[in-house]
Amino acid sequence: MIEKKNFYINGTWVAPAQPNDFNVIDPSTEEPCAVISLGSEADTNAAVAAAKAALPEWMATPVEQRIALVEKLVDLYKARAEDLAQAMSAEMGAPIDMARTQQVGAGIGHLKNFIRAAKAFQFEQPLGDHAPEDRIIHEAVGVAALITPWNWPMNQITLKVGAAAIAGCTMVLKPSEQSPLNAMIFAEMMDEAGFPAGVFNLVNGDGVGVGSQLSGHPDVDMVSFTGSTRAGTAISKNAADTLKKVHLELGGKGANVVFEDADEKAVKRGVMHMMNNTGQSCNAPSRMLVQRSIYDQAVETAAQAAAKVSVGNAHDEGRHIGPVVNELQWTKIQDLIQKGIDEGARLVAGGTGRPDGMNKGYYVKPTIFADADNQMTIAREEIFGPVLTMIPFDTEEEAIEIANDTPYGLTNYVQTQDPARANRMARALRSGMVEMNGKPRGAGSPFGGMKQSGNGREGGTWGLEDFLEVKAVGGWAAE
Ligand code: NAD
Repeated sequence: MIEKKNFYINGTWVAPAQPNDFNVIDPSTEEPCAVISLGSEADTNAAVAAAKAALPEWMATPVEQRIALVEKLVDLYKARAEDLAQAMSAEMGAPIDMARTQQVGAGIGHLKNFIRAAKAFQFEQPLGDHAPEDRIIHEAVGVAALITPWNWPMNQITLKVGAAAIAGCTMVLKPSEQSPLNAMIFAEMMDEAGFPAGVFNLVNGDGVGVGSQLSGHPDVDMVSFTGSTRAGTAISKNAADTLKKVHLELGGKGANVVFEDADEKAVKRGVMHMMNNTGQSCNAPSRMLVQRSIYDQAVETAAQAAAKVSVGNAHDEGRHIGPVVNELQWTKIQDLIQKGIDEGARLVAGGTGRPDGMNKGYYVKPTIFADADNQMTIAREEIFGPVLTMIPFDTEEEAIEIANDTPYGLTNYVQTQDPARANRMARALRSGMVEMNGKPRGAGSPFGGMKQSGNGREGGTWGLEDFLEVKAVGGWAAE
């Protein structure tokens, strides 16, 4: 079994201050695949001290040099893509082909987008022609704590580390204890790329331990967090005493509004999108709102599409979905499916229990509920599993009302061939992102939510800005 108990602090791998072994479980087999250590306060303090000491020099390093190191990181990342894919497949259950393409690919994309954005970004600029002696300077926020989840691990780590590094922040990364292996490979790449000691540090740990030590630490200037709304609230409260900048990417309960004039692939596309990554995406289109005139047909199409989704071991090649990440999530999903049944939604595919023939591994049946009401638990809570909830609607106004009637506001989706209606919907939906007719957002587009889905934006120029302070200078001297 892999043993990876050390932490990366101040440019070197060090043993934990106190041993505290933690087994990483492979969700395809329920067996441990690695043992790591969970950090303690002494480890957190050492990492924060290293980041604090490295800050002045890193901030003063010309941005071109910081960009050059991230460029080197991209090359190293490509060279170790297979290692990253294998790690993610083992620790969080992403099917290996999907891990190689989507999970690994997301990271390369984000790093490249930051490089492009930074090259075009004005780190110093005049206020305007009316104020020739005023300068606006964008400078690093300072020491950043980066707390990441297990569902898209490299995606989230690169979104934070890439932006923080180019902005001139130093950082302590605490990856999810469920998926630490890919993060440790990433730390090896940061080391090999030649980032100065202390700029990037990694300490493994859980939320109540290293996570809350970081969010309350007086020498941490900013917390960038992705994960559950529950943890986001705890972090915000803990960070309040030291008034840190807190950036949150939390859950979602996206609506996918399918109008009667949607293209013929819209329903199937929505189901496949929901099932991707075994439903473990904050931006999953988990509520499908369908106009009543095509509703019955849509339910049939969705049920057929879900029945065709195969479920399998994450280590096997091919197009299937893998298990969900762990026993806790498996049980939570089972409970929510049962709640859907108990509250009266109509189960048209899947259901509780493992798929037929599977008796080990955290596998969930691809599940579709029809005739749901937006007040049911399955329409309100983020299930984070391969479960789609279908709700009928009559008018555009009603669709907007249902879509916006949620505490979340991350991504909504619209399917219609009427361009005026599509754009009206994009304006009316209360979410940080709206995607229409299966078209993805472009490279460097800002990712983030409204309401209880969080604040701040990740990726590209906006992601960079989140790690920068704005300094306004009057009386700037002509040089
Ligand atoms: P989580 O929020 O508990 O964990 C995410 C990260 O936060 C991990 O690194 C964890 O160690 C850390 N953490 C947890 N509590 C913390 C605290 N009090 N202070 C500081 N750090 C803390 O998520 P989870 O338990 O892995 O998953 C539970 C639910 O969270 C899922 O069912 C899903 O709804 C949601 N989730 C959302 C996303 C997302 O991208 N929005 C990602 C993962 C999980």
